[in-house]
Amino acid sequence: MLENKVGIIFGVANKRSIAWACAESCLEQGAKLAFTYQGERLKDNVEKLTKDLPDTLVVPCDVTNQEEVDAAFKAVGEKYGKIDFIVHSIAFAPREALEGEFLTTSREAFLTAMEISAFSLPQLSLAALPYMKEGGSIVCMSYYGAEKVVSNYNVMGVAKAALEASTRYLAEDLGKHNIRVNAISAGPINTLSARGVKNMGTMFKHIEANAPLRRNVEAEEVGKTALFLVSNLASGITGETIYVDCGFNIIGIQKPAE
Ligand code: NDP
Repeated sequence: MLENKVGIIFGVANKRSIAWACAESCLEQGAKLAFTYQGERLKDNVEKLTKDLPDTLVVPCDVTNQEEVDAAFKAVGEKYGKIDFIVHSIAFAPREALEGEFLTTSREAFLTAMEISAFSLPQLSLAALPYMKEGGSIVCMSYYGAEKVVSNYNVMGVAKAALEASTRYLAEDLGKHNIRVNAISAGPINTLSARGVKNMGTMFKHIEANAPLRRNVEAEEVGKTALFLVSNLASGITGETIYVDCGFNIIGIQKPAE
């Protein structure tokens, strides 16, 4: 399905990362993939995970460093000559902002969360544009806390709201270039980032009890949806936020469990 397609995967920290699940789905369908990592700390992880992949490239890319972003795209462009899709699976907020009240979020935490988790989407899209001459697809990862209050998610919910709105504005700007932009709103998954949010365990139990499918979603299921969105199967879909959350978002008031 993705033979001769080139993608960049942003946000692999380890094998539990949603980005890695997306990579595995795309690799199974024949895509060539470049990977980015943030900081030397993660370089080893990403290099180890990708060492047996054919024709791959691993480059540093901290989105707070524009020179690094430009260099990453240049390296990918020079190696493959084009980019067909991007998986944006990046987010960050200081840990102290992910507990207690949103009201007390510091200016610094707010700006950091917005820069890394939301601004990075238009930033990477603009950098990709010169390499997406045959059109393309951009997919990012959001969460339900963008639209409803989820305890402790706080400033990250606000950043995800900005990410989803950015998805729509970018879809309009890039549609004329035949580039589609979509978000996946994933249910909670036990990754490194998720562990930064206080009381995740309670959240997993709540979903298991209340989601229509009575379970939590798996990273692999998010990966399969990313594959669909970057593939030609989704050629008519842009500007959307697609839920991959075992149906949790559709529930209003439920009858008590029997
Ligand atoms: P991971 O921790 O595995 O991935 C997050 C990635 O973002 C890491 O690779 C991280 O690197 C990277 N990152 C952080 N800061 C920067 C930066 N300045 N520049 C470049 N990369 C950076 O967690 P997930 O796989 O869970 O997260 C992936 C995406 O999915 C995020 O957008 C997250 O909000 C979203 N999501 C996650 C859900 C979950 O429950 N896990 C649910 C819904 C959405 P580093 O480790 O160095 O910080």
